[in-house]
Amino acid sequence: MFITQYCRAILKMSTLPIVVVLGATGTGKSKLSIALAKRFEGEVINADSMQVYRGLDIVTNKITDAERAECPHHLLGFLDPLRMFHVFDFQEQCLSIVERLAEQKKLPVIVGGTHYYIESVIWNVLLANNREDSEQEKVETSSGSDDLIGEFPREHLLDPLTHLTYVPTLELHGLLKSVDPETADTLHPNERRKILRSLQVFASHKKRHSELIAAQKAEAGGSSLGGPLRFPNAVLLWLQCDEDVLDERINNRVDQMVEAGLVDECRNFHKSVASHKSELDYTKGIFQSIGLKELHDFLMLSPEDQESEQGQKYLEEGLQNVKARTRKYAKKQIQWIRNRLLKRSDRQLPHVFGLDATDLSRWPEVESKAFEIVDTILSAKKPSVEPLPQEFRAEDVRSTNVCKVCERVFVSGNQWKEHLSSRFHKKRMNKQRKKLHALEVRRERPTALQTVPEPS
Ligand SMILES: [Zn+2]
Repeated sequence: MFITQYCRAILKMSTLPIVVVLGATGTGKSKLSIALAKRFEGEVINADSMQVYRGLDIVTNKITDAERAECPHHLLGFLDPLRMFHVFDFQEQCLSIVERLAEQKKLPVIVGGTHYYIESVIWNVLLANNREDSEQEKVETSSGSDDLIGEFPREHLLDPLTHLTYVPTLELHGLLKSVDPETADTLHPNERRKILRSLQVFASHKKRHSELIAAQKAEAGGSSLGGPLRFPNAVLLWLQCDEDVLDERINNRVDQMVEAGLVDECRNFHKSVASHKSELDYTKGIFQSIGLKELHDFLMLSPEDQESEQGQKYLEEGLQNVKARTRKYAKKQIQWIRNRLLKRSDRQLPHVFGLDATDLSRWPEVESKAFEIVDTILSAKKPSVEPLPQEFRAEDVRSTNVCKVCERVFVSGNQWKEHLSSRFHKKRMNKQRKKLHALEVRRERPTALQTVPEPS
């Protein structure tokens, strides 16, 4: 019964029109999404992992209250800053909003720079630690604590950040090898995060990760990266911008944030949180926002020291780092779009339309082009603009190869091939050959020990 319900839900979703606004930070995504929502009776769903949190409005670059009032927004600034929010939380909540909007005949406009959030929604991606699964597991495991995988309680594999921090990666790789040798073979013994994820999948689904991926591949349009597109009717709009122009825009934006009170905002947040926590972890939740970590040295100073020459130096350095990290983040975002949305291996890809947002004085043209694309697709016509071309990419075959000569491990087939023809490897091979040769020569020549005494 569950299966048919699930199929029906998928079938219903697959015909939905849905708009996704993509692009690097600072390209005008929020502005375009609001314009689209107003034009097509839509509602905006935020897909920025930092903007889901309440507070730090300047640091996380949230829209203003006035902008927010222009159309309904979802998943924006609703979460307590000390709570965790994972990609499967986003997937679950976003999909239920999309479904609700569809019933009301409203257009969902998903916008945000956290691309793995967007990926979890537009494709049928398998996510480790689906919360329902793990809750069910908790109930099951509470009845008996002898549920072990290798030497580890299943619970520990489900929550590795709490329980497995001190377990060496090599040991985890060994465990994965024993439960899911096929997946272990495709992972480097150093790839801790991926190893943990596969162990988590095994612990929560009670199935090997390799098995589940094979099932995804078997679905029409599926690939090793995940299942087929959930919304074949999705329209993806990519706001593009010349890189130098974007760099400058980002620098200016950080200056504007400072004028708007960025430093005070960080100071207040730091003060309110530091009293709760003995140690700040900048790898979790809202603490990952660009700005907090960069201003850490400055924020740790007393109010008087912040005003001192040294304090002002820390502040200046911190702000330079905020700019640098934001520029780097923007480049990563663009790379993601190119690699995941425009390079085809065996994965089904959505149509992505490019919109040039380099010259902000021509913004009205960007909007009208976006309107035309969405309008034609909603009325099942072909837009006059072509989607961006898709490149073909040969898929890398992953399996473990060990070079005993160089004592190195390779899991990428391409890197293994590269290594075998590299100068580094050839040099080592030559050295090894000479050594072996020398040994053989020595063995052939009888040594004093080997000479047999003459019979007398
Ligand atoms: Zn080698």
